[in-house]
Amino acid sequence: MVCGMAKKRKKKRGIGTLLFMIPMILFLILLAVGFLFLNRREIVIELNGEDTVNIDYGGTYQEEGASAYYHETMIPFLHKNLELESTDNVNSSVPGHYTVTYTASFKDIRTTKVRKVNIVDPIYPEIKLVSDPDGYTPYGHKYEEEGYSASDNYDGDLTDKVVRTAYKDCVMYSVTDTYGNKTTVSRMIVYDDRRGPEISFPQGSAEEEVFVGGSWYNDYYAEDDVDGDVTEAVKVDGSVDTSEPGDYQLTYTVTDAHGNTSETTRLVHVKVRPNNDGAAGEDSKTIYLTFDDGPYAYTEELLGILAKYNVKATFFTTSAYPAYAYCMALEAQQGHTVAVHSATHNYASIYASEDNYWADFNRQNEVIAAQTGSYSNIFRFPGGSSNTVSMNYNSGIMSRLSQQASAKGYIYFDWNVSSGDAGGTTDTEQVYQNVIAGIQACSRAGVPSVVLQHDVKAYSVNAVERIITWGLENGYHFAALQPGSYAPHQAIAN
Ligand SMILES: [Zn+2]
Repeated sequence: MVCGMAKKRKKKRGIGTLLFMIPMILFLILLAVGFLFLNRREIVIELNGEDTVNIDYGGTYQEEGASAYYHETMIPFLHKNLELESTDNVNSSVPGHYTVTYTASFKDIRTTKVRKVNIVDPIYPEIKLVSDPDGYTPYGHKYEEEGYSASDNYDGDLTDKVVRTAYKDCVMYSVTDTYGNKTTVSRMIVYDDRRGPEISFPQGSAEEEVFVGGSWYNDYYAEDDVDGDVTEAVKVDGSVDTSEPGDYQLTYTVTDAHGNTSETTRLVHVKVRPNNDGAAGEDSKTIYLTFDDGPYAYTEELLGILAKYNVKATFFTTSAYPAYAYCMALEAQQGHTVAVHSATHNYASIYASEDNYWADFNRQNEVIAAQTGSYSNIFRFPGGSSNTVSMNYNSGIMSRLSQQASAKGYIYFDWNVSSGDAGGTTDTEQVYQNVIAGIQACSRAGVPSVVLQHDVKAYSVNAVERIITWGLENGYHFAALQPGSYAPHQAIAN
């Protein structure tokens, strides 16, 4: 019985052990599998200091370093410090975004960690505006830029990089530095009208002369910087009586729409015309030799021929060949008349407007005054007063110029004997024949001869000596044109 019982207990105990062992083994398997799956092998890099560092441009950057170790998560006591490699591209002298990269490796593992280093430019560019405290923009005008400059602590002069945007009432200026700092400033535009109109005398000047009995045109023009042409608003105080010699003062007053008043005066001298009975001894046997377009290379030679026969002539001069301007002084010294033809002799320019014509005229008269010591009041229109070429540039201009000339006290001379040297012929014999025939025709008609030649044409100058000797042999006399001389006028055709 006992024995049987013991046997029975023994059998019971073997099963219990087995029941205990199975979960144990399962647990160990699980543990092993868990270890295999859960254990992480890793390298940890720890940066000293912040992951992102901001340094002001101009400051110094000090890298604080880092440390690294290897460990396995399921085996806490396994901890191994590692050496680190680092690279960095930090340039603290240039604002920008940089990195410092740390790398560590152990066995087959390699890890990197990056620190961001920003070289910060905290200073914005500065824009300076040039501005006149008393300046303003007239109403209706565009603002005229007074100037500006831009500079930056890092970029230096940034003026060229300024973006300027003009609006109706203000102008915006923006500039961005290398780091991206953007500065914007604005300028308010001050609109105002503080200036009165400008009164001018387009055809004349503030002081003028007119001969008794002549016609004087009260031309004036007023322009306001805001209102434009305000000529009609001009009030004129005073008048000119051309029948009475004397000095007449005129006062011109005009006020613009904003109440700015301008005033100017003009003095007109009405003078007695110089003796106009014709030059002494002038008759149908008088020959006025006239030479246009010079002085030029043949002028001195011509002066020699004239001097040889003591013949006086008239030179309608230009400034086409400025190197020969000195000949005008010789002409005057030798008793010839130095008169105005044109400074430029450019039809398209001088006949485009009366302004242009008189500006060119005055320019030539200044040259004459410089060479001879006095201005001339004698002139010849380029192309003559009957020219039609001026029609291409300004309709009616010859009529107006001839009126203005007499108002200004200038006397123009056309010609009644043409040598043909301006295009009809290039032959000296033909020039001579043309002139002789013309003089004879004038003589028969009972008027003096005013002969047109050009001292810029050698073949024409070469005919002069024969013309003179022929004239002297045939009872003619030569003279230089004077203000009272016979002045043939061709019919104005424009
Ligand atoms: Zn000419």
